[in-house]
Amino acid sequence: CGVFGVVGVTDAANFVALGLHALQHRGQEAGGIVSHHPDHGFNSVRRFGYVRDNFTKQSLMETLPGALAIGHVRYSTAGSKGQTAIRDVQPFFGEFSMGGAAIAHNGNITNADALRKELIERGSIFQSSSDSECIIHLMARSLQRTIPERMEDALRRVEGAFSVVAMTRTKLIGVRDPLGVRPLVLGKIGDGYVLSSETCALDIIGAEFVREIEPGEMVVISEKDGIESIRPFRPRKSRFCIFEHVYFSRPDSIIGGRSVYETRRQIGVELAREAPVEADLVCPVPDSGTPAAIGFAHESGIPYGMGIVRNQYMGRTFIEPTEQIRNMGVRLKLNVNRALIRGKRVILVDDSVVRGTTSRKIKEMILDAGAAEVHFRIASPPTAWPCFYGVDTPQREKLLAATMSEDEMREHLGVDSLRFISLDGLYRAVGEAEGRDKKHPQYCDACFSGEYPVEPADMIQKGFQM
Ligand code: 5GP
Ligand code: SF4
Ligand code: MG
Repeated sequence: CGVFGVVGVTDAANFVALGLHALQHRGQEAGGIVSHHPDHGFNSVRRFGYVRDNFTKQSLMETLPGALAIGHVRYSTAGSKGQTAIRDVQPFFGEFSMGGAAIAHNGNITNADALRKELIERGSIFQSSSDSECIIHLMARSLQRTIPERMEDALRRVEGAFSVVAMTRTKLIGVRDPLGVRPLVLGKIGDGYVLSSETCALDIIGAEFVREIEPGEMVVISEKDGIESIRPFRPRKSRFCIFEHVYFSRPDSIIGGRSVYETRRQIGVELAREAPVEADLVCPVPDSGTPAAIGFAHESGIPYGMGIVRNQYMGRTFIEPTEQIRNMGVRLKLNVNRALIRGKRVILVDDSVVRGTTSRKIKEMILDAGAAEVHFRIASPPTAWPCFYGVDTPQREKLLAATMSEDEMREHLGVDSLRFISLDGLYRAVGEAEGRDKKHPQYCDACFSGEYPVEPADMIQKGFQM
């Protein structure tokens, strides 16, 4: 998901709409905006579909007045999987004795089932099936006097990954979980401030990047008092999601002082060193494989070409909720550039293999077009474990790499060769010259290593074996 918030600008909701549009790659199922105006109170709009189809109409945006607003774009990981109900669309709103508050959450709460059960037993009435709603109810039960203090209380009970953007009548609040699994950055626009999942959404509104919110940090921002920084949690070594670098973030964003594009290009360079192959053409699986393919071509000296062309009017395949739509998705979205492919030995570079559906379809299309050989090079290690921290990987059984060796996968996909970047190679590409620190890994890489930095309590309860 993507989260965005602005304080201290006229018609803040318009800025939030633009920010969410720039974060659309983080969630395409639905979006919502809440604003506050001293004379009109809190207002909220939540809609299915793209930001551009909902939050561009002037008549609608006029219902969201005020200099303070937050928003959320959703793709379902927890909660009503596959079929988002409108009641699951964020931001969520709660009314407390000291006033209202709205929250937008990116990540996944790993003890949400247990919390929900406990809260319901003690009288909470849930409106949605979303894990994020627990935060509102925990805040309602807190005995603290201010909303930010109640939020601290609530988040100390929550386990897992959370980057939260919240608002009261006068304050914009941003929090990252102690491991800092999901991103969140601070920006400045005029006299106002911005919180955003990624820096690409600061660019779109002409905001200046100030800094990242630190893992375990909470910032409380108001027009009157500026920024206050609080440390609600016991300090821990951070474990940012390495898959944000590989796939999830936009290539024009900056994470940890590094260009995401440059990291991805470097993954391609590492791949070409680790798994060279003789061929005539390096071809990206667009768009997610493009920067790595550029790096691979550069390092190997093999020409780069657009052997697959993407229809710009389709979304990301993986984020389409049902298997059936996903299966169709590949053909609707990608087409082979026959004239370029015919008779060539082709290296296809993609970011990841999850179920293998995409790779299989693409291989068929490339062979139909008359390719002489097909070699897959993948910009992440085999995805053998599900993510419980806000990326929607399927159950373990459905992951190709969970049940097959690399050689079996190659056979299953029917390609001449298949190689994945090593975990150390990936770490080098994100700037860790020594590779992965085995004792204290610098990132979360659980979907590749099976080493979960936060125990997925609810999943273990349901029988998941680590
Ligand atoms: P598959 O067809 O193997 O199940 O899916 C792999 C494709 O899904 C890749 O091309 C990748 O770009 C895309 N993808 C989209 N979202 C995700 C995600 O959340 N996790 C992973 N691993 N891949 C994703
Ligand atoms: Fe990211 Fe993978 Fe960790 Fe999930 S399990 S947070 S996708 S590195
Ligand atoms: Mg892809």
